[in-house]
Amino acid sequence: MMTWHDKAAALQADGRAFIGGERVWAKSEQQFENLSPIDGRKLGMVARCDSADVDIAVAAARAAFEDRRWAGKSPAQRKRVLVKFADLMQKYGQELALLETLDMGKPIKYSQSVDVGGASNCIRWYGEAIDKIYDEIAPTAASSLALITREPVGVVAAIVPWNYPMLMASWKIAPALAAGNSVVLKPSEKSPLTALRLAEIALEAGIPPGVFNVLPGYGAEAGAALALHMDVDCIGFTGSTRVGKQIMQMAGQSNLKRAWTELGGKSANIVCADCPDLDAAVEAAIGSIFFNQGESCNAPSRLFVEESIKERFLEKALAKVPAYQPGNPLDEDTIMGAIVDATQLKTVMGYIEAGKAGGARLLAGGKQVRTETGGYYVEPTLFDQVDSSMTIAREEIFGPVLSVLSFTDVQDAVRQANATPYGLHAAVWTADLSKAIQTSRALRAGTVHVNQYDGDDITVPFGGYKQSGNGRDKSLHAFDKYTELKTTWIQIG
Ligand code: NAD
Repeated sequence: MMTWHDKAAALQADGRAFIGGERVWAKSEQQFENLSPIDGRKLGMVARCDSADVDIAVAAARAAFEDRRWAGKSPAQRKRVLVKFADLMQKYGQELALLETLDMGKPIKYSQSVDVGGASNCIRWYGEAIDKIYDEIAPTAASSLALITREPVGVVAAIVPWNYPMLMASWKIAPALAAGNSVVLKPSEKSPLTALRLAEIALEAGIPPGVFNVLPGYGAEAGAALALHMDVDCIGFTGSTRVGKQIMQMAGQSNLKRAWTELGGKSANIVCADCPDLDAAVEAAIGSIFFNQGESCNAPSRLFVEESIKERFLEKALAKVPAYQPGNPLDEDTIMGAIVDATQLKTVMGYIEAGKAGGARLLAGGKQVRTETGGYYVEPTLFDQVDSSMTIAREEIFGPVLSVLSFTDVQDAVRQANATPYGLHAAVWTADLSKAIQTSRALRAGTVHVNQYDGDDITVPFGGYKQSGNGRDKSLHAFDKYTELKTTWIQIG
């Protein structure tokens, strides 16, 4: 039987763009190298798309939208195609999982379950939802009829990051396509492969050419050209807060396209002394920060533990850390893989140094490991005695680094938890129902967990308060981003 290593050795990745139903190189013929973070192996060359390619892809998307080849299909017809798209993603699931793992370094175990599983479920869910949504008639005077209907916005650009390449893409393209839009997707230059393969699979499922285009390339080139384009109606962006601000500026500077942003986080996980299950709290705190190498927007990177239980909590937490020692992502038992590239590795190591220099106490990890592989690996790292003013408590690290802080009472914890420009996720662990509800109300975050950290389902919105962004992915609410609300007055007489 072939192992994942054998399959990886045999893999031929296609880095050409996908425009109007065809694989093409960039007009400029420029390419960039795609290296795997697992071992530095060259996976192939990728089309370096720029504004010339953006013009072509947007024109293809616009033509497809105008002739209604997709938007004009009934919701039930679009449903059938999207459900087939999801089925085909399952059929090609092993190939997609392998591409994802090679491209960005996450364990193959999770590429299959979380990424292929989650992304195909997302496509299926929006496909199945679209023929069950009704429009409205307003309760106006009897002499007229006022219809409130939803229409696709037109051409949607989606720009996504590298930490869950296929999943973040599916959170945008599924509701956008289900609603009848045409889409131009720009994956991260660090992880373009699954997005490109998804476009081929969508075509095979019956999404007409021109409706779903994928342009690999750099943010400042392909990404900025999309954000500035005068014929893009809406942009769905997931990425850093820094670039999210630029996206909103570019939208305003050009045609005031609707700009939806899903940005960074520095989520607070508050464990009170009356936590009903300390072992579960420890498991969630450790498991959630080291999952995906800590490269998750909603990672609970600030752990607040009430002073009276902190010693006991840390003892239990430290016992769990060694299980997350990074391994080869292609081994099925690996649960923490490689950091996406040399730049991100440098960023993470820089924060670890800042933690030490700032006076935090390094309790576990802190080193780069497996250097002999040619890949990028960092030990699961835990800092104690962190205070809210330190760099590692304020800035998003996006790596396997947990900062432990303490608090005296829950009001103190909430005050510290909210003292951040971010507002993505938060959690509180307590057996006191009133305290749980009061705390979850006081926490300024898009999602609050009570006595857990793994609540996650396609049926619930995902997005942030404050500088964690202005949009919500997932759930029926995502349709709000990719549809216009139209009022039609009809005189009855
Ligand atoms: P990033 O902002 O550097 O890049 C994201 C995307 O934007 C990439 O495709 C990139 O090429 C593109 N881009 C970069 N500069 C651009 C520009 N000037 N114009 C247009 N596009 C540009 O982020 P990243 O490093 O890829 O991803 C990590 C970030 O994403 C973290 O901050 C993380 O918290 C965030 N994230 C948020 C969510 C969420 O749902 N809120 C989910 C996943 C990741």
